[in-house]
Amino acid sequence: MKIKINQPFIDKFAGDRTYNPMQRQTPEVLYALVNPIGYPKAELIHYNKELAKSLGFGSPLTAEETDLLNANPPGDLKTYATAYAGHQFGNWAGQLGDGRAIGLGEILDDKGNSIELQWKGAGATPYSRHADGRAVLRSTIREYLMSEAMFHLGVPTTRSLSISLSGEDVMRDIMYNGNPALEPGAVMIRTAKSFIRFGHFQFLTANGKIDALKNLADWVIGRYYPSIQNLEGKDKYIAFLTEVQDRTICMIIDWYRVGFVHGVMNTDNMSILGLTIDYGPYAMMEEYDLKFTSNTTDLPGRRYAFGQQGNIALWNINALANALYPLIDDTDAIRHVLDNFEPIFWKRFDVMMSAKLGLDLDDIQANQTLIKSWQLMMLDLKLDYTLFFVELMKYRENGKFNLENICYQDLSDEQRKSLDDFLKAYDTQLENNTLSKQESLKLMREANPQFILRNYQLYDAIQDAEKGNYAKFEKLYEALQNPYENKFPELQQKRPDWVDGVPGCSMLSCSS
Ligand code: AMP
Ligand code: MG
Repeated sequence: MKIKINQPFIDKFAGDRTYNPMQRQTPEVLYALVNPIGYPKAELIHYNKELAKSLGFGSPLTAEETDLLNANPPGDLKTYATAYAGHQFGNWAGQLGDGRAIGLGEILDDKGNSIELQWKGAGATPYSRHADGRAVLRSTIREYLMSEAMFHLGVPTTRSLSISLSGEDVMRDIMYNGNPALEPGAVMIRTAKSFIRFGHFQFLTANGKIDALKNLADWVIGRYYPSIQNLEGKDKYIAFLTEVQDRTICMIIDWYRVGFVHGVMNTDNMSILGLTIDYGPYAMMEEYDLKFTSNTTDLPGRRYAFGQQGNIALWNINALANALYPLIDDTDAIRHVLDNFEPIFWKRFDVMMSAKLGLDLDDIQANQTLIKSWQLMMLDLKLDYTLFFVELMKYRENGKFNLENICYQDLSDEQRKSLDDFLKAYDTQLENNTLSKQESLKLMREANPQFILRNYQLYDAIQDAEKGNYAKFEKLYEALQNPYENKFPELQQKRPDWVDGVPGCSMLSCSS
């Protein structure tokens, strides 16, 4: 094969090389070699041409490259599943691991970056925990499209390289209510600089593998945080925690900017590079609601609701700090890092909100009252989060604000007045703005997407794709490339009424 795949992770760390796919605990090692199940009838339905080109894939793809995308690799490629652990919904869950993902290794891209590749849905691994390691077309399309949508929105994320039908049906109980049904199976390749998670560190610490913990931390620092690699002793790991915290905060602020709700922020779903990873029952929030959760499993506690994501990120950083403790052994130093989370977070939050509103960025404090009153108005009126800002940009341009386009309920006169009051306060604030109107609009256009991928649009595209019609899928793929432009007005509408109560349209289960 023309493409050269490197495997620094399995070259560096101890693994279980027996190729035994049986599900088991592997407390001594960080990965187990495992072969994909093999899909002789697989069919590539889409691939990311720009990403494939940057990784050196041919155009058109060679037969061997297509086989690789279809999870039928050449016989000499060692493929592997990694072991991690984590807290799920706040509870320690012990060993988890790549149960549905299999690693291929890394390819050097045209910019000299090492990019890791993983199949998702290529069959069971030692970490599949009584599940089948397969994926259905429904959940695969959701990850395939949304991770690319996030990439083009400018949010740190894993990416999607390809999606194939596996050629086999898979049984799933979508609503977890005892009604399993066969669905078309699929497999995708996702890419990232690294798929290492907080949970990998938790796994080693929980198993008392402190030498391996140090090796993994040093390896991650050397490859992805080179600016701190020459620090000595505990200072290096304190700096590491600080850097991971910083990237995690950046990611969450971007989630708030675009209205993303991850839905399953367990520590095993937290990337050590601050990337959005593991797209499951996520949603782009439509009506503004801090308590909105997209995951049916999360409904009892709403632990992972939109407004909770900052708190949960801190909770997860705490879990990472515990995992790194053996390398730091200094509670005060760790406390000092964690104490900085909230001030950094809120400062960046106010900057982000100020940009969305097109306000001065040099005196953020002066914007705080307006941001607060905006939030109270939105919580009461429950307007569409994305479309509110699209309307606000129009209001800045022509002084008109169309409430009907962005509203999901009948509003009282009082509620309409609270929007008018907000707009008056906004105008007053703008009078004190040192930014020109053009500068302010530029800030807004860069912070506020016009197109977001809504769950009902995904649902609609998936229904057709399951019948072999990919036209809607292709259209969404095209629209998500330019989310800050007004290219597809018909896709930039509030959620239609038919969606209400349809499972999979606004709320989702983890079933994948
Ligand atoms: P998630 O909540 O999707 O991040 O998954 C939690 C754990 O369950 C991870 O270790 C996954 O690899 C595993 N898992 C989820 N779905 C499957 C599946 N269909 N087959 C095997 N393992 C799975
Ligand atoms: Mg996961």
